This record gives sequence, C-alpha cells and structure tokens, in this order.
Amino acid sequence: MPKAKAQRDTAVVEVVPLSGFDADLAYAVPPICVEQMRPGLLVRIPLRRRSELGVVTRLGTDQVVPPGKLKMLYEIVQPHPVLPADMLQLFRWAMRYYSATPESMLEAMIPSAIRKGMRPKTRRYLAIGEAPDAEAWQELERRAPKQAELLRFIQQQFKPLPRATVLNRLKISASACEALVAKGYLQESDTEEARVAYDDDISDSPEVVGHALRPTLTPEQAQAVEAINGAIDLDTFSVRLLHGVTGSGKTEVYLNAIEKVVATGGGVIFLVPEVALAPQTVGRVRSRLEARGVHTTVWHSHLSDGERYDAWNALASGEAHVVVGARSAVFAPVQNLKLIIVDEEHEPSYKQEEAPRYHGRDVAVYRAMINQAVCVLGSATPSLESLYNVERGKYAVDRILKRVDDRQLPRLHLVDMRREALQGKGPSPISRLLMDKMVDRFEKKEQSILFLNRRGYSTSMLCPECGYVAECEHCSIPMTFHRTDKTLRCHLCGEMHPAPHRCPKCKAPDIRWRGQGTQKIEDIVQKILPRARIVRMDADSMSKKNLYRKILNDFRIGKIDLLVGTQMIAKGLDFPNVTLVGLVDADMSLHVEDFRAAERTFQLIVQVSGRAGRGDRAGEVVIQTSTPHAPPIQFARQSDFDGFQLEELEQRREFNYPPFRHLIRHLFRGRNPEKIEFYMEQWLKVLEKELGDQIEIRGPAPAPIEKIRDEYRFQLWYFAPSASRVIESIAKLRKSFPLDKEVIDLLDVDPMQMS
Ligand code: ADP
Ligand code: ZN
Repeated sequence: MPKAKAQRDTAVVEVVPLSGFDADLAYAVPPICVEQMRPGLLVRIPLRRRSELGVVTRLGTDQVVPPGKLKMLYEIVQPHPVLPADMLQLFRWAMRYYSATPESMLEAMIPSAIRKGMRPKTRRYLAIGEAPDAEAWQELERRAPKQAELLRFIQQQFKPLPRATVLNRLKISASACEALVAKGYLQESDTEEARVAYDDDISDSPEVVGHALRPTLTPEQAQAVEAINGAIDLDTFSVRLLHGVTGSGKTEVYLNAIEKVVATGGGVIFLVPEVALAPQTVGRVRSRLEARGVHTTVWHSHLSDGERYDAWNALASGEAHVVVGARSAVFAPVQNLKLIIVDEEHEPSYKQEEAPRYHGRDVAVYRAMINQAVCVLGSATPSLESLYNVERGKYAVDRILKRVDDRQLPRLHLVDMRREALQGKGPSPISRLLMDKMVDRFEKKEQSILFLNRRGYSTSMLCPECGYVAECEHCSIPMTFHRTDKTLRCHLCGEMHPAPHRCPKCKAPDIRWRGQGTQKIEDIVQKILPRARIVRMDADSMSKKNLYRKILNDFRIGKIDLLVGTQMIAKGLDFPNVTLVGLVDADMSLHVEDFRAAERTFQLIVQVSGRAGRGDRAGEVVIQTSTPHAPPIQFARQSDFDGFQLEELEQRREFNYPPFRHLIRHLFRGRNPEKIEFYMEQWLKVLEKELGDQIEIRGPAPAPIEKIRDEYRFQLWYFAPSASRVIESIAKLRKSFPLDKEVIDLLDVDPMQMS
C-alpha cells in the first residue's frame, strides 16, 4: 500500500499549539527540518486556516491520521528548544495558578524577539585568500584598479576586517569585492556578534573593583555556604531561606554556591528585585566567574530586542550558564538548572502588577521543584510567607546575625515629629537632629542618603479659605505639586496642568501646599547645605535610560555628597562611605489600607537603615515618625527580627490572613458604578452557590483608590486554604458568567498590591 508507506517515511511530530492547550496535534516535518527536530522547539504550524506557533512535544506519534490529512508544519522558528518539557510544565502551572491567558503567559516566558524568529546578528569579515602571481597582479592593476586597491589594502592588515566598513571607507563597490572572492584572492567569513548588555564599561567600573578578590568567609557565612552547598550536593529540590542582616555578606554566600554549581556544568538563575540592581550584581558575578571561563548574561525588561535575543540564545545554546536579572529572568532558558537565587525575596516588585500577575519568587520555587534544583531565598527582612514556610518545615533556614568585619549595625534614632512641630518654628519636614547630623557628615566628607517614598514637591494643594483640595478630575487622589515646572500632576493617570495662583473655587489668593515630596526635601537640604552636591533620584529625575547608573557611580566615587530619593535607593545598594541615612517619613507605609502595612514598614526601616555604615565607619539612622510607638517602628529600632516576626505572625493567624490562607483579589472596574455593583451582586450569588463552602468571600467594597482614569473600582476578596484548585474553579465559573462589556474584572492571586 503505497500511501501508508509514504506516511511512514515522513517524519512526524506532535505539536501543542500555544494558543490553547487542548490537545497535541500531529504534523509532518519538512525534509530540511528533519535533522534538527527536537522536543521543545518552537515551530510554525498551519491551524484553523491560520499560521500559529506551537511547541514540539514529542518526535513521532501514536495518533492515527487518515492518509492525506496530515499537514506539514511550516518551519522551525528557533534552532534551540524554547519550551522543553520542564518549561512546558512551568508554563501550564503558571497559567492555571495565576489565572492567566496563554497569550499573556507566553509573552512573559518567551521574549518577543524569540517568538518572531529573530536570528543572530552576523557580521561579514574579509581576509586574504590565495595570493595572485605577478602576472595576475598586473592584469588586475590594469583592468580592475579598484579590485587591486582593495586587495592591497587587505594584504596590509594583520587581521580580518569588517567587509562593510572596508568597502565604505575605500568607496569600493560590492561587485569588486565579490569578484576578488570569486577568484579566491579574498576570503569572506561570517561571525556572530553578541550584543552583551553592560559589557561595555563593566570591567573598569568601580562597581566591580575589589569584588574579584575572595574574602575570607566569616564563621556565619561559612556555615551558610556549607549548608547550601550540602543541599546542592543532594541534587534534589529544596528551598533555603538565607536570613542575614544588612551588610552580612549574603552576596558572598550566593557567589560560593554559584561557583559550586558552575564547576560541574550546572546552570544558575540569580534574581534581583530591581532592574537597577542588575549591573551591580552582574559586575560581582562576572568578576568572579569570568576567570573560570563561565559566561554570565543579564536579563531584564529594559534590554533591546537584540540584547535580549543574544542573552536568550547564549543561555538556550548552553554557551552561558548563569543569568542575573529581574523578575522575568525566572523564565530564562537556563540549561541544566541547578540553583535559583532570589535576592531580597520579600520585595513586592517580584510580583508583576499586570497580566500575567505572577510572583517571581513563587515561580522560582516552583521551577526549582520541577528541575530538582536548590532555591535560595535571601533577605534581611524575609516575607512573612517565607518565615511561615520555615516555621512549618517546608524551607530550611540559614541565619547570619552579624555584619562582616565586626561592623556594627547602625544606631537608630527615633524623632517624634509631633513634638518637633510643637517645639520648632512651625512644622518642618526635616528635624533638628537630622539637620545637625547632615551638616556634621558633610563637614567630615562622609555621605548621606535621605529617603522619602513620594516624588514631587507637595502632596496636596489646599485653600485655607474654602477648604478646597485639588483632586484629579479622573482619579480619587489629590494632585501633587511639582515645583520644577510649576504643575499639578496626578501620579496615577498622569493628568497635568499649570499650578493655580488662586483657589480655583473661591479665588482666595493664599493657596497652601501641604505634605512633602522628594523635590521639596532636595530644596530644603540644599538650603541647609548650600555647598553640598545633592542629587535627587526618583521617577521624575530618572527618565533617561542610563542616568541611574551614572548617578550611582558618581555617588560611589564621591562626586555626590547627598542623595535624596524614593524607594529606588532603598534596597540592595552597597556604598561604604555612607554613614547617615534619614528616613523622612516612616509613617507613610504604615497608614495604607493593606494587611501588610506593618510588615512593609518594618522592612522599609530595616532596609533603608541597612544602607548606612557598610564601610569602616559606623552608621547612624534618623527615623522621623508621628507614631513612634507603633510596633513595627519599635521592633525595627531594636533590630528585633524575631520579636516582629512572632507578633506579626500571631496577628495574621488571628485574622486568618496570608500566609495562613491564600488571598485572591477580584477587582471590577468601569465607568458606571451602579452597573458594576449590579453585576457584582449577580456574580456573588453564583459564586456563593458553587464555591461558598470552599472559600470565604469578603466584599463587595470600593477599592482603596475608588476611581482611576474615570473608572470606578470595587473588589471582592476570596480566602482559601489552598489556591491552586480553587482558582481553577473560580476561573471556570467566571468564564461561564456573562459580564457586561462595560464592566472589566481581573483576578489577582496572592496579591501584593491592595489599592
Ligand atoms: P548584604 O547583601 O548581606 O547586605 P553584601 O553581600 O552586599 O551584604 O556585603 C557587604 C559588603 O561586605 C560587600 O562590600 C562585600 O564585598 C563585603 N564582604 C562580604 N563578605 C565579606 C567577608 N567575608 N570579609 C570581608 N568583606 C566581605
Ligand atoms: Zn488622575
């Protein structure tokens, strides 16, 4: 039977289409692709009369396809596997757990350059081939002087030259060059060019100097290294929390573990909470690994398509073994993955606040499980989630209680701003104590950091006559005054208009500005220290791409005396000459509607304080607050981690909040609040009937920020002992529930953002 024979001869693979995951489909493989075919490859397939992306799940098939019905796939999109079995499993889990669409999950996992089939950038080089004899030379000189000129030029060089550059410079046509190649006098070769982010100036940047040296580990570091390396030896899945105070040398511990893993050809993912921290960390890792010939790549959302492609390709091909990056690097195609490090694991920035709403740390743990790898979560202020996992024996813990070199943790001073206001000449955002200490540091040529997590100048405009407060027309928050360009701006929707001179409502002339932002602090400090070099770092001043690194470098080499900034400068940075840190308003994070408010405040104080006294001189921290007796502030002041953890866990247990149960936040928004409320009522009825016995439902209630961009916002909270099963049921139910098209909803599993 000729037909059956034809089918047997054709190579067949099973492919799972990425647009939906219902079934694997069989496809024939074009003859030129047969040799390269492997599971995990991204391929383009004909499906439902369209061309779609799919992943090869197996070679061959048991499916019986009627003769003539077997379609042929179009092409292999990337030469290296894009979603091998482990990644496919991760993909499916994350999509379900975070209730994400396959499209959004794909976008997070596979860079668009890869999906679009980008290939390496190659450059063509010219080198000398076979030399012409005298006669041939003469002939060339006479009949093709341009060719002769080019050949002579290349002969005078010591190494191959880029073809385009040479032809351009000598103004010689491509055909002249091709003629020489055809005669064999010149040789052409293609070389892949890597676009390596941060490779340009990393080697001589002060970020790196000193770190290539291998310090003698402190006893506590050594113990942690031994424990982690022991776990790596077991070659099986485990999670370890590295709980070490700020400046305890956690990075050194990570580096030791990385070295151990790469020594046996293993792969490593090293996550940092912020893009901005990537260069510092990459520098440290590279300076340690480069000497061993191990290649480290960076990965974050600010890479160009080309850079990202190269990083992806280096990892997928196994040429690079280590990746350092922000959240999305958790999906990097690292081969033979043995170790995932999540530095500052408590950072909310690991949670993606747009679809797919995944938590980088939690995905890291799951991926480590799939790959039988070790996951190390490091922090000076671990999340309650991780501490709870230690408490119930799911994670092991290694603690470092002392800083390196017997350096002291900084001294913390609390300043009660209510008293300060009564004593001074009216309220000032900078207390006497902080002022004096800043002056002192400046005179001693030591550096200071002032921290305030609010950009702009003043937080609100108030008319003392009629009580009018300038609020955004589209959002339910006050407008912030920006003095640099005299505007009022909404930090939610970006609405902006010139700041009025009179009250827009009653025309009274003396408008008051209340509250302070980083611009105002910068102004005040410049008045206190007119000769100091002060730089502000916040989203307003950092709009340019590389400014951030430049400023941090200037600060490191002492070109800047004092840094004023938002949370951008709160974490991870290591500046030895900083001896004073001021936390301008410690209460800000305490009074938000969020069950993690206390945790955040504690973490913030400890982390910000951790920037002080990392060099030879002791550090001091001034914490300004109107609620000095609030527990997180008191615990932080005494550096009492265990005390805080115990009390906070007790509170959460009592109210049955995370980490004791999972929280799923269901947000509804739209322009018509009545409509939203109506649909939420209907939805609740369905939900209660179907799942009322499995989850506790709270709400509906207006979200803390009731309106953004003219859309009203309401939410429901679902509490569940385990999220994975329940979320699927909710998602399924929601799919069959007809929602008005003017009402938009989203599910946020394990939310970090409550507003
Ligand atoms: P952490 O991340 O715990 O806050 P880092 O890893 O940034 O701390 O280390 C703080 C500083 O101490 C860094 O400059 C680092 O190079 C240095 N360091 C780390 N370990 C040692 C050690 N054993 N001896 C001397 N210096 C060390
Ligand atoms: Zn607005």
